[in-house]
Amino acid sequence: MEAEEKSLKNHIENLVIIGSGPAGYTSGIYAARANLQPLLITGFQKGGIAGGQLMTTTFVENFPGFPDGVLGPDLMDLMKAQAIRWGTKLLEEDVEKIDLSKRPFRLETSNEIITSHSIIIATGASANKLGIQNEEKFWSLGISACAICDGATPQFRNEELAVVGGGDSACEEAVYLTKYGSHVHLIVRSDKLKASAAMADRVHSNSQITIHWESQLVSAQGEEWLSELRIKKKNSSKEHVLKVKGVFYAIGHTPNSDFLNNQLELDNKGYIITQPGRPETSIEGVYTAGDVSDSEWKQGITAASSGCKAALVAEKWLSKNNLSTLLKRGSTEPAQADSPQNLKETTEETFKSNSIWQKGSYALRKLYHESSKLLLVVYTSKSCGPCHILKPQLKRVLEEIGGEVLGIEIDIEKEQKIATQAGINGTPTVHLFKEKKLLHQWKGVKQRKEFKEVINKFMT
Ligand SMILES: Cc1cc2nc3c(=O)[nH]c(=O)nc-3n(C[C@H](O)[C@H](O)[C@H](O)COP(=O)(O)OP(=O)(O)OC[C@H]3O[C@@H](n4cnc5c(N)ncnc54)[C@H](O)[C@@H]3O)c2cc1C
Repeated sequence: MEAEEKSLKNHIENLVIIGSGPAGYTSGIYAARANLQPLLITGFQKGGIAGGQLMTTTFVENFPGFPDGVLGPDLMDLMKAQAIRWGTKLLEEDVEKIDLSKRPFRLETSNEIITSHSIIIATGASANKLGIQNEEKFWSLGISACAICDGATPQFRNEELAVVGGGDSACEEAVYLTKYGSHVHLIVRSDKLKASAAMADRVHSNSQITIHWESQLVSAQGEEWLSELRIKKKNSSKEHVLKVKGVFYAIGHTPNSDFLNNQLELDNKGYIITQPGRPETSIEGVYTAGDVSDSEWKQGITAASSGCKAALVAEKWLSKNNLSTLLKRGSTEPAQADSPQNLKETTEETFKSNSIWQKGSYALRKLYHESSKLLLVVYTSKSCGPCHILKPQLKRVLEEIGGEVLGIEIDIEKEQKIATQAGINGTPTVHLFKEKKLLHQWKGVKQRKEFKEVINKFMT
C-alpha cells in the first residue's frame, strides 16, 4: 500500500514498542504498568512471527519460574496476556519504514502511519538460509527452518531426515527429529560441534544420528517433494548423495534491523550498537532491547531483562521531557488476564452442530458429512508456534462472520490418518470446505483480511 493510502493516526503515541518477543512484551508490561499505554507492534512476517523465536521451540527449561519447563509458545502466550492485562495495545503488523530524522518519530506499517515520542526496538533476529540450488523450489516441500514446527508432519514419519548446523539449535533439532524420522543426518561445517557439552553429548550418544563432519550442502533434488541432498566435504569437489525426505536449517540468525535503513548506529553484522548493558541507541528517545542489539547472550531471560531496562529508561526520558500522556485508571488492579486455555477434544456428548469452533476427528466427521455450512479445517500441532498466532485470528474471523462458517481444529500428531489423507505437509494449514468439496487452502499465518476475502467469495 502507498504511504498516501495509509491511515495516519492523529494522536501521538507516548511509546511504540516494535517486536513481540520476550524483550518487546517485557517492555510492554513495564511501560503499561507505568500508565504509558504503549503501542506494541507485534510483527507479522517480516522478521519472524509474532511472539518471536520462542514460538519455534518446544520446551524452554531455563526460564525462571517454570520448574518443569514450559512450551515456548505457551510462555509467549502468557507474556502477551500479562502485557495486555496492564493495558498494552497490540497492532498485528510489521513496521515497514521508520523515520527517526524528526520528532515525533514516524513509523509506517502495512496499513497505518503512526507517530510516537519514543520507540523501543525489540525486533530480534531471523533464521538464516543457505541459498543452495533449488532451495526456493523445495522450501516447505522438504526444506524447513523449524524442525519443531514441521517435524511432526506425515511426510517425515519414518523417513531419513537431515539437519544443517553444529550449534545448540541444530543438536536440539536433530535429537527432536529422531522421534519422527528413521534416521537423522547432522551436516556440520567444521570438525566439532559448537553446542554446549550437554547438548553435544545427547547427539553423540544417540545411535539414530550420523554426523557428517566438515561437510556442506550443495543442492536439493526431487520431483514435487525433496528426495535427496547433495553434500560435499571441505576441500573436495566430490559430491555425496543423502536420500532424505526433509532437511532442517539451524544455521543461526541475522538481527532484524534492515528496516532502520542505517538511521541508527549498527555494527558490521547489523546489531544495533549501545553502551554495554544499556538500552540507549545513537538517537535520544530511541531505545533497544533483546537479540537485535545483543550479539552475545541471546536468551529469553536476557531479552526480557533488557526489555525491562528499555521501558524504565523510556519512561524516565518521557517524564523528564514532559512528553507522556498518562492513563488514568479507575482501579489500581486491572481485571484478571485472559489466560490462554487448551480446547478439549469434542466428543459425542459435547458436539454442537452450530458451534463456531470445535476440535478433533469426531467434530470433523460430523460436520463434513452433515453440515451444509462452510467449514474451516485448521491443521495444527501442539508445539507449532505459528498455530498459536493463527487460531485466535481465525476465531475472530469466524465470530465476525457470525456463525455462517464453522471452524474445526485438527491436531496432526493425534490425527495422523486424517493429516495424511488431507496431504498436510506443515502446520498451520487451513482448508475451506463446502459440502465435502475443498474450495481453498492456506499455508502459514495470514492476515485476517486474506481469510475473509476468500470466505466472502464463497458465501455469496
Ligand atoms: C529454536 C530456538 C530455541 C531457543 N531456546 C531457548 C531457550 O530454551 N531458552 C532461552 O532463554 N532462549 C532460547 N532461545 C533464544 C531466544 O528465543 C531469544 O534469545 C529471544 O527470543 C530473543 O528475544 P527478542 O525479544 O529479542 O526477539 P525475538 O524473540 O526474535 O522477537 C522479535 C520480534 O520482533 C518482531 N519483528 C521483527 N521485525 C519486525 C518489524 N519490522 N516490525 C514489527 N515487528 C518485527 C518479530 O515478529 C518478533 O515478534 C531459542 C531460540 C531459538 C531459535
